[in-house]
Amino acid sequence: MARYTGPVCRLCRRERMKLYLKGTRCDTMKCAIERHPYPPGEHGRARQRQGSEYLLQLREKQKARRIYGLMEKQFRNLYQEANRRPGVTGENLLRMLELRLDNAVYRAGWGSSRAQARQLVRHGHVKVNGRRVTIPSYTLRKGEVVELSDKARGFIVVRHNLDTLDRQTPPWLETGDGGLSVTVRDLPLREHIDVPVREQLIVELYSK
Ligand code: SF4
Repeated sequence: MARYTGPVCRLCRRERMKLYLKGTRCDTMKCAIERHPYPPGEHGRARQRQGSEYLLQLREKQKARRIYGLMEKQFRNLYQEANRRPGVTGENLLRMLELRLDNAVYRAGWGSSRAQARQLVRHGHVKVNGRRVTIPSYTLRKGEVVELSDKARGFIVVRHNLDTLDRQTPPWLETGDGGLSVTVRDLPLREHIDVPVREQLIVELYSK
């Protein structure tokens, strides 16, 4: 599946907020939002657009898409699936994004960013219910156990992340094995998803 390979900090600057796409760098003064707190481009500083309704909806969708690292087509497909399911579409969408395997690896604190978590999955270092899964978009189900492979448990980068990130595991995940495995205790509720996204605006955008 395709993925964005351009400049990452530019995405945060476009959304005018930290999206935490680069792991530990995001908490330092090297963060581009700290140094250039205005949109990218030649006229980034000069442009002061009034927010139309459409612009607000578009920015909210782009923000969610960029936080989770999805391309447009993949994101739209996910929205359509969320719309088909019973319940509130916006919440369904966020729940499905949270239940992605790469996100669970990130939430477990094994990767400093979702991009790094995605790489751990792609390179075959993550197992679900004892079987290796290399698909970052794999949707976890209630009761499934995610764990690191024996090789990955010794990775310096994983050890370093576990020791330094101090990431709080969300209530829908239960850690075990000294932090090296997580179980999906329950499906995530909206209040347990801490991404700064107004999902209703995304629904309004796609349902036009
Ligand atoms: Fe965004 Fe992190 Fe880059 Fe800061 S360092 S602009 S939070 S990706």
